[in-house]
Amino acid sequence: MTQAKTLNPIAATFKALKCKECGAEYELTASHVCEACFGPLEVTYDYNTLRRTVTRESIQSGPNSIWRYRSFLPVATENVIDVGTGMTPLVQANRLARRLGLKKLYIKNDAVNMPTLSFKDRVVSVALSRARELGFSTVSCASTGNLANSTAAIAAHAGLDCCVFIPADLEAGKVLGTLIYSPTVMAVQGNYDQVNRLCCEVANTYGWGFVNINLRPYYSEGSKTLGYEVAEQLGWQLPDHIVAPLASGSLFTKIYKGFQEFIQVGLVEDKSVRFSGAQAEGCSPIAQAYQEEREFVKPVKPNTIAKSIAIGNPADGIYALEIARKTDGSIASVTDAEIIEGIKLLAETEGIFTETAGGTTIAVLKKLVEAGKIDPDETTVAYITGNGLKTQEAVQGYVGEPLTIEAKLDSFERALERSRTLERLDWQQVLV
Ligand SMILES: *Cc1c(COP(=O)(O)O)cnc(C)c1O
Ligand SMILES: [Zn+2]
Repeated sequence: MTQAKTLNPIAATFKALKCKECGAEYELTASHVCEACFGPLEVTYDYNTLRRTVTRESIQSGPNSIWRYRSFLPVATENVIDVGTGMTPLVQANRLARRLGLKKLYIKNDAVNMPTLSFKDRVVSVALSRARELGFSTVSCASTGNLANSTAAIAAHAGLDCCVFIPADLEAGKVLGTLIYSPTVMAVQGNYDQVNRLCCEVANTYGWGFVNINLRPYYSEGSKTLGYEVAEQLGWQLPDHIVAPLASGSLFTKIYKGFQEFIQVGLVEDKSVRFSGAQAEGCSPIAQAYQEEREFVKPVKPNTIAKSIAIGNPADGIYALEIARKTDGSIASVTDAEIIEGIKLLAETEGIFTETAGGTTIAVLKKLVEAGKIDPDETTVAYITGNGLKTQEAVQGYVGEPLTIEAKLDSFERALERSRTLERLDWQQVLV
């Protein structure tokens, strides 16, 4: 609470929390559901002021992080938590494009986002900046892995107490990548949806700032920066088609909101962008609803290697469905084997090592191109949201092995000859 007094207020452009269902408006506190209809709350802004005050130049003269878009983010004070999050590379992926039969493909590479190598650093930077303004001293989250990494790291940087909740069966890299920051870690015997239910109870009784529960309206705004950055990096233009992974569906809907806001305040020209979503078959409630042309999402029990996007009861599922439908996009799912192929394909063609969520995105991208649902002429952006070093067990056994040799030239030469012979045999097998 003492910290809040030292924060300098700025002229804030965010106005209220508004229910996505009934439109009821609420004050900007730590709450996330409408008291009237239980719909989710979303942050609203004064777009007239933004239109008058924000220019491409004013953004470009800002920091080299998500905070260059501060006027579009829900913070009311000067000293936000800036750990260099955002402004990740937008890579023109020519070799992957050729392999898939596309002409212009970009990878938005959040596998190298700071500080914990996933897109979650964006949402957490915003949520904890807001948590500090609202006077929270302990922050928390229900996580599928990456969110716990981000919350623990950024809380450590900001000097906030931190307690995170994860399913007990997460990948070793995700668990270690949280523990290293010394938060309290609760490994819950259950899947993410059970973790989330428990956290809702804790949030109600402990007065902690749960980034993706009571702070969710602020948290989710951080994902808009994945829309803004792509628009800016394409030279203040929107792409024709985007492909992004879906867990709760929040990221997907907020990229859409980001594009819409840039159109609304005149930073980019109006244009329709097609939105396509990617899920793992072992947890594909939104893809199933899309395929069956349903208006509602039926919860499922997750069973996939893509743990970071394994949410069986997605909070923003229906909004993601709506966006895919109205933009003439698509939502598809792929098997775990296809996810592994997707990880390898991106690595071999572009030199980017992504985790299972990125493998899902690349595999769905491939599937949609093959099905004719992405036109080769469309400028397409695939969002890679996490780093492969955190989910090594997913590809263990699917990559080669090093050639162990003695520290002698002839040992090296024999090994090289052996490997070339093997390569030739491989090729002969391909040719027959
Ligand atoms: C959390 C996560 C997502 C998607 O999150 P949403 O809940 O849909 O916003 C995508 N990729 C990775 C790597 C994630 O950790
Ligand atoms: Zn409502």
